[in-house]
Amino acid sequence: FDDLNETTDDTHIIKKKNGIRKKCGGFQGMGLSFPVLKGIQKRGYKLPTPIQRKTIPLIMEGRDVVAMARTGSGKTACFLIPLFEKLKARVPKSGARALILSPTRELALQTLKFVKELGRFTGLHAVNVLGGDSMDNQFSAIHGNPDIIVATPGRFMHICVEMELKLHSMEFVVFDEADRLFEMGFGEQLHDIVSRLPERRQTLLFSATLPKVLVDFAKAGLSDPVLIRLDVES
Ligand code: ADP
Ligand code: MG
Repeated sequence: FDDLNETTDDTHIIKKKNGIRKKCGGFQGMGLSFPVLKGIQKRGYKLPTPIQRKTIPLIMEGRDVVAMARTGSGKTACFLIPLFEKLKARVPKSGARALILSPTRELALQTLKFVKELGRFTGLHAVNVLGGDSMDNQFSAIHGNPDIIVATPGRFMHICVEMELKLHSMEFVVFDEADRLFEMGFGEQLHDIVSRLPERRQTLLFSATLPKVLVDFAKAGLSDPVLIRLDVES
């Protein structure tokens, strides 16, 4: 890994220039577009959290990223904000362009809600593909031509096989709560999914902890990733 492993928090640096106090480290300095900034503002976020400040610029640059930070540190917006920016450049549609994998149905539901709130001004279309929902509903969700799929791995693989889904349109893949994805026993499905994804893609992995199985997975599935580690849970 290209391990940055920084723990400093410079969120509240105030630069005094020409007698004007200017707050640095805000969302405004990140080169985000108006619809995305408006979503952030409506959600009530004033400043990025430390993990957001480290990861968003790297993801915007196109790097693969492994980000470790404790629960509640704001990891969802770390990947959603750059994802919105990347997906807003429209391409002729031939399938979903971003896949977010979550360990549980509850988390996947919550992440879709997050997409709809934070991304409400982007015009992007997102759906869930979840174990426990009817297959018919999920077939129609996929037929609705979503930009973003937020899924649990077992059902996503099932749908891929049933619908003979080709994943060649996927440009971005996020493994959210990756430690829990493995704890829940999804290792095999995750490898299956990765093997079906195009080589040319951006892959992001978010986790509260980094067990060996995850390091190995990241080495195999990510391309020259940057590791960001902030106030990690012991
Ligand atoms: P994690 O995935 O790291 O556990 P979440 O993405 O679920 O964290 O975020 C935790 C909470 O913090 C959520 O309620 C989220 O809306 C809020 N949050 C995220 N980023 C910010 C921010 N920049 N400012 C204020 N609140 C934020
Ligand atoms: Mg999370």
